[in-house]
Amino acid sequence: MQKGQLLYKGKAKSVYASEDPDLLVMEYRDDTSAFNGQKLEQLERKGRVNNTFNTFIMTRLAAAGIASHFVRQLSERESLVKRLEMIPVECVVRNFAAGSLCKRLGIAEGQELLPPTYELFLKNDALGDPMINESHAMSFGWATPVQLARMRELSLRVNDVLKEFFAAGDMLLVDFKLEFGLHHGEILLGDEFSPDGCRLWDRQTRKKLDKDRFRQGLGGVVEAYEEVGQRLGIQFD
Ligand code: ADP
Ligand code: UDP
Repeated sequence: MQKGQLLYKGKAKSVYASEDPDLLVMEYRDDTSAFNGQKLEQLERKGRVNNTFNTFIMTRLAAAGIASHFVRQLSERESLVKRLEMIPVECVVRNFAAGSLCKRLGIAEGQELLPPTYELFLKNDALGDPMINESHAMSFGWATPVQLARMRELSLRVNDVLKEFFAAGDMLLVDFKLEFGLHHGEILLGDEFSPDGCRLWDRQTRKKLDKDRFRQGLGGVVEAYEEVGQRLGIQFD
């Protein structure tokens, strides 16, 4: 599959056209950002680690009946995906309090959330991805009620599947962000699932194994992503 024109260069990935108008090539770069792009670094191997990690997760989700845009991994850094019309809403599920939830509500990091919380954020870098609710999404036309219901249902199903999956590697799935889009009218899970967009802690020690290592300057960022992969049986060559 030949890579065509560059359509979009995001903070961590570049999206290219392909020979098929229905498919895109997604390239995972080593660029790593936090705090809405204010902290930026290149972390060696991160692009290929996340690409392989995402392949593994999307394949497991498909096996559990959760459809995504993922078609196949093309190379170390590239994957073929179905072209989506992205819904500009980020869906966040949380099993334990961390990150912006702690700041917003004054909650101590690590409190278990039962049932898990489900939040929506507008995907808008200029506004710093503000939190929104379903009413905003409907009134401003970002998503229809049917789409919102499906996004919520799929997000919570992803949580059920992946919580178990990471537990088998002795990890807690603390929280994660998903993006959805439309492919010929059907809602599909898009973007990526990797330690860049979720929080994972060691179950016993609560050692952070995700992008918080970068946000908080803890070091060993890609090494932690590789450790997560190893615990799940992913081979990074
Ligand atoms: P950001 O845009 O937040 O900086 P990335 O660097 O990860 O993020 O860029 C990837 C971009 O591609 C995101 O804007 C994401 O919404 C978009 N995207 C993800 N999957 C698809 C898809 N299947 N079709 C079209 N766009 C997609
Ligand atoms: N997240 C993400 N992209 C964003 C915002 C959040 O991938 O633009 C992920 C983040 O890695 C975490 C979860 O969503 O796993 C919840 O993030 P939070 O709201 O706590 O924001 P943060 O403090 O991480 O910016």
